[in-house]
Amino acid sequence: MAEHDVIVIGGGAAGIMAAITAKRQGASVLVCEKMPKIGKKLLITGAGRCNLLNDVLDASFYNPGGQTFVQSILDQFGKKDMLDFFKELGLATYADETGRIFPVTNQAASVLKVLEMELERLKVTLDLGCEIQNIRAFKNGFEVSAKTGEKEICRKVILCAGGKSYPALGADGNGYALAAAFGHRINEPVPSTVPLLVKDPCCHFLQGQKVRAKVTSRIEGKNIRTVSGELLFTQYGLSGTAILDVSDEISIALNRDHMKNVTVVADLIPFMGEAAFAEELSRRFEKGVTHENLLEGLLAHKFFLAFRSAIHNADASSIAHLLKHKEFKVIGTRGWNEAEFTAGGVPLDEVDPLTLESKLQKGLYFSGEVLDVQGRRGGYNLAWAWASGAVAGGCNGRGVSNG
Ligand SMILES: Cc1cc2nc3c(=O)[nH]c(=O)nc-3n(C[C@H](O)[C@H](O)[C@H](O)COP(=O)(O)OP(=O)(O)OC[C@H]3O[C@@H](n4cnc5c(N)ncnc54)[C@H](O)[C@@H]3O)c2cc1C
Repeated sequence: MAEHDVIVIGGGAAGIMAAITAKRQGASVLVCEKMPKIGKKLLITGAGRCNLLNDVLDASFYNPGGQTFVQSILDQFGKKDMLDFFKELGLATYADETGRIFPVTNQAASVLKVLEMELERLKVTLDLGCEIQNIRAFKNGFEVSAKTGEKEICRKVILCAGGKSYPALGADGNGYALAAAFGHRINEPVPSTVPLLVKDPCCHFLQGQKVRAKVTSRIEGKNIRTVSGELLFTQYGLSGTAILDVSDEISIALNRDHMKNVTVVADLIPFMGEAAFAEELSRRFEKGVTHENLLEGLLAHKFFLAFRSAIHNADASSIAHLLKHKEFKVIGTRGWNEAEFTAGGVPLDEVDPLTLESKLQKGLYFSGEVLDVQGRRGGYNLAWAWASGAVAGGCNGRGVSNG
C-alpha cells in the first residue's frame, strides 16, 4: 500500500483543480473517482458549452451567509488566476455580452480535455471506478477505504465529492456522510437552480409557451427576489431562466423550512407599466375589440385561452392587474434529477476560510459543491469549484502541499 501526500476524493471540477494544484506544489496525489471517467458533470455544463466563470466575479454573487468566506477564497484565486490557469493549459476563452466566459470552441469537452492533458503531464494517479466509503484518521494521516475493500494511506484528504444534483453523473450526496463522520453538521441539502411544480390550470393551457417576464419569489407574503428573463410554462409548472434564478430561496423555503405559502408572481407584460397597460386595454375596448382579441400583439393568443374565465367580464384595469401580478402557488421542485446545483452542505463556520481545512479534523480539506456555497447562474458555481479547488490544493502555499 503506497502512501500518498494527498488523496482527492471526487474527480469533478473542484477535485481536478485541487489535484493539479497540489501536484504542481510537489505533492504526490491520488484522485479517487467513483465513475469510470472524471469530469462527467463538467461535460453537460452550460448546455454542453461550459460557462467556466464570469467576467464580473466577486462574493456578492453568492449566498449571503457565505460571502465573507467566498471572498477570502476568491482573494487567493480570483478571475485573473482562473483565466491565466486555463490560458496556460492552452484553452482560449471569450466573454459573451452578458459577461459569461466560455471556451472559444463552445465545447465543454475542450475544457475537460485540457484538464486531463495536464493531469497526465503531471502524472497524477487516477483511480477510476473507485468509490470511497470510509476515511479513518490516525496520527499524522488517514486510511481511505473504497467500496471494493481497497485501502490507501495519505497525509491529507481533500473531499470534493460534490452535492446531490444529477446523481446519475456521480455526486449523490455520499460526500456528506464522509464529512459527518468527522463530526461535521450538514446544512440540509435541497435542490437549487431547478424548475418548479406549480398548481395552476393555466400552466396546462400554456405548456410550451415561452415569454419574457419579470418574476418575483414571494415567501409567506414577503417578496424575496425579482429577476427578468425567460418564463417557460410546462406540463408540471414553470421553468426558464427567470424561474431557475428565483428557485433557490423557494426550494429552501419549501424543502428545508417547510413553509406552505410560497408563490411566484409573474409580470407577463414587463415592457409596459400597469397604468399604461390598462390605458392600452381601454383604448382597445373603445375601438370595439372583443375580449377574445384583446391581448393580440402583446401576448400569444393562447394566453387569452388560459385566462379566459378571468378576462371574460373584467374591465381594463382588472385585466392589467391580473397579467402584471399573476401569482402561481408553488408546491414543490422537479428535484435532484433536474437541479443544476445543491443548496446546503458542509457549514462554512466549520472550515478555515484561508485554507479550506476542517476545523474539526486536521488534514481534512473541502472544496466545491460539498460546501454550503451557492453561486448565481452565469459561471459562478464553476468559478467556486476552480477557486476552492486551487485553495484546498495549496495554491497559496498554506494548504495541503506544505502542511
Ligand atoms: C446541467 C448542469 C449545468 C450546469 N452548468 C453550469 C455552468 O455552465 N456554469 C457553472 O458555473 N456551473 C454549472 N453547473 C454547476 C457545476 O456543474 C457545479 O458547480 C460543479 O460541477 C461542482 O463541481 P464539484 O467538483 O464540486 O462537484 P461534481 O462536479 O459533482 O464532482 C464530484 C465528483 O465526485 C465524485 N464522487 C462523489 N462521491 C464520491 C466518492 N465517495 N468516492 C469517489 N468519488 C466520488 C462524483 O462521481 C463526481 O465526479 C451546472 C450543473 C448542471 C447539473
